[in-house]
Amino acid sequence: MGLEQCLHTPPKPRLALALAGVVRSYGEGEGRKLEILRAADLAIAHGQSVALVAPSGTGKSTLLHVAGLLEHSDEGEVFIDGQPTAQLSDAERTRIRRLSIGFVYQFHHLLGEFTALENVAMPQMIRGLAHKEANQRAEELLAYLGLGERLTHRPAELSGGEQQRVAIARALANAPRLLLADEPTGNLDPKTSAHVFDALTELVQATGVAALIATHNMELAARMDRRVTLREGKVIELP
Ligand code: ADP
Ligand code: MG
Repeated sequence: MGLEQCLHTPPKPRLALALAGVVRSYGEGEGRKLEILRAADLAIAHGQSVALVAPSGTGKSTLLHVAGLLEHSDEGEVFIDGQPTAQLSDAERTRIRRLSIGFVYQFHHLLGEFTALENVAMPQMIRGLAHKEANQRAEELLAYLGLGERLTHRPAELSGGEQQRVAIARALANAPRLLLADEPTGNLDPKTSAHVFDALTELVQATGVAALIATHNMELAARMDRRVTLREGKVIELP
């Protein structure tokens, strides 16, 4: 390509997340190896929300952990915002995870001895933000999620739905460009689950973060831009 042409070719927009040929298996030895992901591919554009709907045991958590750089794949590549990650050091992967990825677990994983506000402010302070700014953003996020009156509550003093909303605020505290959520409402009763999912989808839309959310709830999945499932270790697009 000539220089002239190069200058006039718009840069390809980078994807928020791409998995290319990701293989992940558990266990050692012939016959005992459990192949969970078998050359799985997935591409999520910036700002796009995708529901991952698949039966238990098919590898949703495995996929999310590999995509979130919490686990290594055996083969294949995970691109975060266009950057390949397989060959990076653990320190580099941790840095990307802190700066670019928010993760919500099925069980909130909040720190029990800290308040809601502290739990949300902490990832920002780890990133180097001053106490005051971190607290301010934490407060805004929690207020947005309807927890403005719960800032100084510890996790044990919150309901399940409230705990999960704090976990969502924490995941988004560093303004990541990719949000990964592993059955974030799986432990909640249907009504609370709907409330938490409302808050989650609203925040995803308001912030424009790309999201991959594992859920069993088809009604909730229908609100995402796309739906995918896992079949024989591959990611399949659903209508
Ligand atoms: P899902 O989240 O869809 O329920 P998982 O990704 O948790 O599925 O698990 C997929 C399969 O991999 C399951 O059969 C599970 O038992 C197995 N598995 C998950 N983690 C491990 C592990 N650390 N060691 C061995 N097997 C595992
Ligand atoms: Mg799971």
